[in-house]
Amino acid sequence: MLALPLFVFTPITYSATNVTGHHLVIDPGHGGSDPGSTACVGLLESDANLDIARRLRGLLVADGATVYLTRDGDISLSNNDRYSLANLTDGEVLVSVHLNGSTDPNVNGTLGLYGKKSKDFSFTNVLHRRLASELSVPDLGITNFASGVLLKTNMPATISESVFISNVVECAVLRNGGGARQQEIAQSLYNGLSDWFGESSGGGGSGNGHGGGKPQH
Ligand SMILES: [Zn+2]
Repeated sequence: MLALPLFVFTPITYSATNVTGHHLVIDPGHGGSDPGSTACVGLLESDANLDIARRLRGLLVADGATVYLTRDGDISLSNNDRYSLANLTDGEVLVSVHLNGSTDPNVNGTLGLYGKKSKDFSFTNVLHRRLASELSVPDLGITNFASGVLLKTNMPATISESVFISNVVECAVLRNGGGARQQEIAQSLYNGLSDWFGESSGGGGSGNGHGGGKPQH
């Protein structure tokens, strides 16, 4: 073992990006007694959601963002637990990470869900734009969904049903692809969050303001 001098200071270095300095809540769907979709034999939706959430956290933290996970293990959380935890943080936005399920193994697509239109619609739309253009699956659009997690969080929030874990091809790559598909989904969510904060700060020059979605600092 090397003898290190005292007071070694190793700064955490990163290049400033749109997400640097922002605070985000990531909510991995399901967990514990609730596995979510079990249509992909050998990979529970709850476990895949957590994997994607951790990868997304890694991308954001690497850029100097602060990330709160509602769960960082295979534990049960109610919707009340999730929005209560989120509202205890200074998170500016919440992304609930899910994968969709169907009894038809051929169905695939990406779907964004919003709760309150005034709070969640623009945010959902910005993230969904990225997922729909980057994940090579059909665009199922965005739709209203009366989830307590969306309705009762104070910040702009979205549920991302990025792909169908029940799809035979997605199941195979999510289960056996070494995490590559999970990383693609995490990267696409990151890209959407980068768009959101870039546009909110005016840095993107798009003039596409978000009203209540503007970061507090
Ligand atoms: Zn789910």
